[in-house]
Amino acid sequence: MQRKLAQRELSPAQNIMATILQSIPKEADVTKIDYEGPRIAIYTKNPKYLMEHNEVISNMVNIIKKRIVVRTEESIRKNEEESRQILTQMLPKEAELGGTFFDTATGEMTVDVKRPWLLNNPEAFNMPEIVSKTGWRVRIRKATASQSSTIQTINYNLKISSTERSKHLRQVGEQIFRPKLSEDAEVSLMTLGGFSQVGRSCMLLTTHESKILIDCGINPGARNPIDAYPRLDWPNITLDELDAVVISHAHLDHTGFLPVLFKYGYKGPVYCTEPTLPMMNLIQLDAIKVAAAQGRVPLYSERDVKQVMKQTIPLSYGTVTDISPDIKLVFSNAGHILGSASCHFHIGNGNHNFVYTGDLKYGKSMLFESASWNFPRVETLLIESTYGAKEDIQSTREEVEAAFIKSVNETLRNGGKVLIPIPAVGRAQELLMVIDQYMKQGQLVEAPVFTEGMISEATAIHESYPEYLARELRQKILETDDNPFDSEYFTNIEHSDAREEPLREGPSIILATSGMLEGGPVLEYFKNIAPIQKNKILFVSYQVNGTLGRRVLDGSRQVSVVGKDGKIEVININCSTEKLDGFSGHSDYNQLMSYIHRLRPKLRRVIVNHGERRKCENLASSVHRMFRIATTCPQVQEGIRLL
Ligand SMILES: [Zn+2]
Repeated sequence: MQRKLAQRELSPAQNIMATILQSIPKEADVTKIDYEGPRIAIYTKNPKYLMEHNEVISNMVNIIKKRIVVRTEESIRKNEEESRQILTQMLPKEAELGGTFFDTATGEMTVDVKRPWLLNNPEAFNMPEIVSKTGWRVRIRKATASQSSTIQTINYNLKISSTERSKHLRQVGEQIFRPKLSEDAEVSLMTLGGFSQVGRSCMLLTTHESKILIDCGINPGARNPIDAYPRLDWPNITLDELDAVVISHAHLDHTGFLPVLFKYGYKGPVYCTEPTLPMMNLIQLDAIKVAAAQGRVPLYSERDVKQVMKQTIPLSYGTVTDISPDIKLVFSNAGHILGSASCHFHIGNGNHNFVYTGDLKYGKSMLFESASWNFPRVETLLIESTYGAKEDIQSTREEVEAAFIKSVNETLRNGGKVLIPIPAVGRAQELLMVIDQYMKQGQLVEAPVFTEGMISEATAIHESYPEYLARELRQKILETDDNPFDSEYFTNIEHSDAREEPLREGPSIILATSGMLEGGPVLEYFKNIAPIQKNKILFVSYQVNGTLGRRVLDGSRQVSVVGKDGKIEVININCSTEKLDGFSGHSDYNQLMSYIHRLRPKLRRVIVNHGERRKCENLASSVHRMFRIATTCPQVQEGIRLL
């Protein structure tokens, strides 16, 4: 009886703490051990000791199998001004110190420098010394050519809410490391949106212990609410029962409903990759503006988006993280947009491995490496099927780049302008990289390149996370002064009264939002560019039926658009129009099949989602036929037993 009580007294959490206290040397001067969400934070008055003896921490991680972060005790942290002065003295001048951000909740200062490669030499830059002198942990980042206002706003909000956040992180930790109810393994998946359809991606992963919501999007094309939002009403759970929300990437069809959970009081954590937070933030706030401009009531307010920021715990690719008593999560590159992730859920003690690809590009682009496929184990794979039909074959990268260069050169050589209507996130940055590279190589006629709309803000976010970009691009940014995001060909138009320059006589390339000519600054350019024969409108993204973009692409020679003052203007289209496929962030049919082929030896079952019904069914039957794996393509509101 007594023994039983003693066992009950030591929770798994207390066990962890006891182990840490026993094995940490006195010199480390540890003052506190606390949860910081899924990590365990060790507070020390002697950070230098632990930095110089990192075997202490790595041995401990091996014993307790949990992530540990070392934090400095608040009392030893110098104030911001003093810390910055120390930094200025201790950084090599040529590295060029930029902005600094002090996060009080974590005791970490983020330091922007123009030439981070100069800090790789320990002689020039003594990190433990700086930490010891300032009392702040240091995180070095490459300073960007233009500052992202989204990231600045997030930093500001994190700072003013640091007490609230510390408390939240502690509660999250207590929840994750609570005692398990049983050792039995049972895993189910409930489909809430984005199955046999594209839009409102959402599902619920459940075990005896935990409930994890994965993605929470809207379907922008749906006519009525029952089809537009995830069916959260169906599984009969409350928000308090959720252990976590996991977000694969920032697009609205995966994150557009997330702030609504916060509006109704969701208290738990959100996990996504580091760049996904500012990216989804930008997109969610833009959706409020778009709704207001179209006279609709927005689903949520700016306050809800801020709450998302505060409760989000960003993770980098490849980090194994406990998100509940029996589930570990690892993100890996999905190649689709900045920060997009495939989500690997390791359930129980290796009882089941579930991988959700998210939107997937299995093919290299200029911005991103091809999606990772190297999972240690996968029993169930859930894969997207946007291009799951047999006929969904795209041109190769080489072909599409060659076609793009040829088409743009034709127009520029004739003295014309090329207008590219484009969504702000993803394709725009990809095209900017293509344009910069080919112009520098002399294969594309040199001409000024103008951007307008959310593009430059999204670009600044891309530049802020070089470690998430393709290897070559990352190296250029982190190790040289040749930063393609800072290209001298590019000019961003900040205000509508600055449009004179891009519209002045002479060849130029203009990229502006929106991608389907439905509103946005692109319309103003369209009015000026369309009537002139030598110009060209070049579409690089899908044009939905019924949009102005689709009508122009289908050959209308005259269209009417509503002007700023509400008057209808008739625009004659005398310029040429063209569409190029292949810059897509999704895998085509062949890429989806070869991705599965690579994973094949370990798979027990493939579930197909994120595609029109016909495409899901086609991909499922192809996979079954080719690889002899059990496949399903469920609809929304189905429950599937995984184990
Ligand atoms: Zn997407």
